[in-house]
Amino acid sequence: MAVLNNRLVCRAAAPIRSFCTKSAETEAELGRALSSAIPAQSSKEKGRNIQWVFLGCPGVGKGTYAARLSRLLGVPHIATGDLVRQELSSRRPLASQLAGIVNQGKLISDEIIIDLLSKRLEDAQTKGDTGFILDGFPRTVRQAEILEGVTDIDLVINLKLREEALIAKCLGRRICSECGRNFNVACVDIKSEDGNPGMYMPPLLPPPQCTSKLTIRSDDTEEIVKERLRVYNDMSRAVEEFYQRRGKLLEFDLPGGIPESWPKLLHALNLNDNEDKRTAAA
Ligand SMILES: [Zn+2]
Repeated sequence: MAVLNNRLVCRAAAPIRSFCTKSAETEAELGRALSSAIPAQSSKEKGRNIQWVFLGCPGVGKGTYAARLSRLLGVPHIATGDLVRQELSSRRPLASQLAGIVNQGKLISDEIIIDLLSKRLEDAQTKGDTGFILDGFPRTVRQAEILEGVTDIDLVINLKLREEALIAKCLGRRICSECGRNFNVACVDIKSEDGNPGMYMPPLLPPPQCTSKLTIRSDDTEEIVKERLRVYNDMSRAVEEFYQRRGKLLEFDLPGGIPESWPKLLHALNLNDNEDKRTAAA
């Protein structure tokens, strides 16, 4: 399922420069498209208006944490990777254009991504949702500038995981060829050493009916995973700095698996457990 997402990351390095040569006019146009889709600030009166962005490299578990927070806070989790996949499986005219781009391994343009994102935000607005948690956008400084030009992002959470754990997790990914669900067979168990804390992340094992049908993505080799991380780090640094300069970046080092990380993440975000329990009970 995460294939497309990683493909985007994987091939994103080269074309960035060409984005920068585009005119400011295009940028303003893209900004206008996005702006009309973002809920008006008055929605803040209805409660808290969360406008957050999640950053993090492939395999870090960004989608999982973003989805949990979106349920907890009652705001939509908008993942651009999902939007692209949904569009691809639709019969709309854009689907065949997108399929061509993806199959050739090309980078999906800012114009298309912003178009999909605007439509999704409009849907949310129609449904009366306030706020959002973005996942997979912005990926470049240009995208961050366009977003910043149309709305005030409150917080950017940068999820990080020790590289050795991250690589193990990426290599442990398995997909069931029958039901399409994702699992992870890696058990990360790093012992504490020289004052560095240890880390334990249990595997996410499949149910018996999936065990014999697990497949590995062909690009989940150690070499490709490391290259993917290198490309991601190169590209994301500028986006992280962009938000850091604006005082919006929260760096969060995941201390382990979900049971260990989730309460600490809530604490870092000043969210309390009561909210969590209420959601769990609902
Ligand atoms: Zn299965």
